[in-house]
Amino acid sequence: CSEEEQTEDYLFKIVLIGDSAVGKSNLLARFARDEFYPNSKSTIGVEFQTQKIDINGKEIKAQIWDTAGQERFRAVTSAYYRGAVGALLVYDISRHQTFENVGRWLNELHTHSDMNVVTILVGNKTDLKDAREVTTAEGKSLAEAQGLFFIETSALDSSNVSSAFRTVVEEIYHILS
Ligand code: GDP
Ligand code: MG
Repeated sequence: CSEEEQTEDYLFKIVLIGDSAVGKSNLLARFARDEFYPNSKSTIGVEFQTQKIDINGKEIKAQIWDTAGQERFRAVTSAYYRGAVGALLVYDISRHQTFENVGRWLNELHTHSDMNVVTILVGNKTDLKDAREVTTAEGKSLAEAQGLFFIETSALDSSNVSSAFRTVVEEIYHILS
């Protein structure tokens, strides 16, 4: 922990996980910069982005980690997970396969980080109404069974994006304070 970090009240490491092309990088781009990339390559991800979030008047720094596309090769390293206190596990509501892989991502998360990492299951791309392959009820019930928070988002039209990140940060804050 550097001297600079020690002057902050709170610094939470949060990781984005889930299959390739589910919208992880765009969720972060929308949240941190209010941007969206219609044809993003999986390489647009930066290592991490730090975002200040105000919770009950306390300034929290969320250090949000994005992959650089290595999930395509199932090669997310343990360094990526190390020290994480929160996770957004993202699937694409228009591709059922990405939902079926959620269990695999949970295993990986629990192998490489603390069992208590605050995790929210995120069904992204709700704007693709006609292409939906995963119902809201399915998402909810998996989240309940696995003890995860749950939300559906669209990085394209912005719906629920900041709520997804805030839910994780608020819960970590409540656990720690
Ligand atoms: P990642 O591989 O999980 O980081 O996914 P990206 O953020 O690179 O997104 C993959 C593709 O899905 C890109 O073409 C994005 O423009 C698109 N995308 C991401 N989020 C959404 C969304 O909420 N709605 C729609 N329609 N497309 C999205
Ligand atoms: Mg990406």
